[in-house]
Amino acid sequence: MPKIRLPNEGDIKISDSTLRDGAQMTGVVLTRKHKLRIQEYLHEIGIEKLECFLFNERDKKVARDMLDKGYKHPEVTGWARANTGDIDLVLDMDGIKETGILMSISETHIFDKLGLKKREEATEKYLNALQYAQDHGLKVRCHMEDITRADFSFVKDFTREVLEIAPDSMIRLCDTLGLGLPFAESPLPYSIPKMVEVMKDLGVKEIETHMHDDFGLAIANSLAGYWNGANWSNLTFLGIGERAGNAELEKILLFLIWKLEGFEKYNAEKLVEFAEYMEREVRVHVPRNKAVVGRNIFAHESGIHTAGVIKNPFTYEPFPPELVGGKRRLVVGDTSGTEVIRKKVEEITETLMGVKVKVKKRDPRIIKIHKEIHKLYDAEGRCSSISDDEMKKYVEKYYIFDPVTDVVKANGNNEE
Ligand SMILES: [Zn+2]
Repeated sequence: MPKIRLPNEGDIKISDSTLRDGAQMTGVVLTRKHKLRIQEYLHEIGIEKLECFLFNERDKKVARDMLDKGYKHPEVTGWARANTGDIDLVLDMDGIKETGILMSISETHIFDKLGLKKREEATEKYLNALQYAQDHGLKVRCHMEDITRADFSFVKDFTREVLEIAPDSMIRLCDTLGLGLPFAESPLPYSIPKMVEVMKDLGVKEIETHMHDDFGLAIANSLAGYWNGANWSNLTFLGIGERAGNAELEKILLFLIWKLEGFEKYNAEKLVEFAEYMEREVRVHVPRNKAVVGRNIFAHESGIHTAGVIKNPFTYEPFPPELVGGKRRLVVGDTSGTEVIRKKVEEITETLMGVKVKVKKRDPRIIKIHKEIHKLYDAEGRCSSISDDEMKKYVEKYYIFDPVTDVVKANGNNEE
């Protein structure tokens, strides 16, 4: 399949927030061991940056351990509220050169959450923090929290002041409640494309999206960011995060690698293993139909699909399982035809007898097995697939114990 090019080709990168926003997900506790393993996966994938809290001793110890590994990527960066105390915590962590600073930008956040009386008070608070970080040599990411509910005349004025103090500041567009839209024609403050344009026009050099998934648009919005000139998207693995979570790192990664030109720098081969790790060790449930890493992504059951995949996997697989470290599975179930049963019988017989066999398409025993299986479903009691163990029993019943078996060598030409 021909790959496409991004219309706004720039230096496109990924930053990770699994260890920060992801760790804030209700019901998820990331231990030091988890965090260091996650850092390892991010390193293997080639993710450029990660962010972490430094508020308590546990946070600090993990940050120290991550920094001590000496990896070039992901760069370990900090996260601070807009006050000198938080920024000092980042400064105290030798080796961190960049920090995000929370700059909540909507009226709800400024007035209700922070309890300020005027927008100017917020501006002053944020710029003081920025100046302090700048004076101490930190690069700053300005996290414009809740920007999809903000007044854009204020956003523009504020951004101009940010750039006056620190022209290299990165601006993070935080769609905190997932209200953003991926369409250029939608109005501000919803349109992510328009928002990126505004930032480019103001002269922001590095723009990053941080999209939440409350309306299921986090991926579309992150891509809309890249499409229109954002350089970064901030993601979490499996989309873990507050409420409905964030844009999934694995989805954006697959899109960049498989659909676009020029992203050989990333390696997706550990994605399935990473998801299995998160499910096993962190207890994050991975739905079986989860894009990219779900158990069903390369599983085929229905008659038409399995017959197609057996002939050529490309018929019903948009990308090869090996790309993400997955495995193709043929599953026998209520929608299966005889072709998948034939294929399964070949595989199982080979395992049991140690020789390659070819089973004819119209072998009457295949028809019998097919009928037996359908009886199970017709009885309305069965609501799961036929396991490999069950298939093995059918093979034993009809093939192994049946003296008349069509077994040929692998290079035999017994096919119809
Ligand atoms: Zn967030």
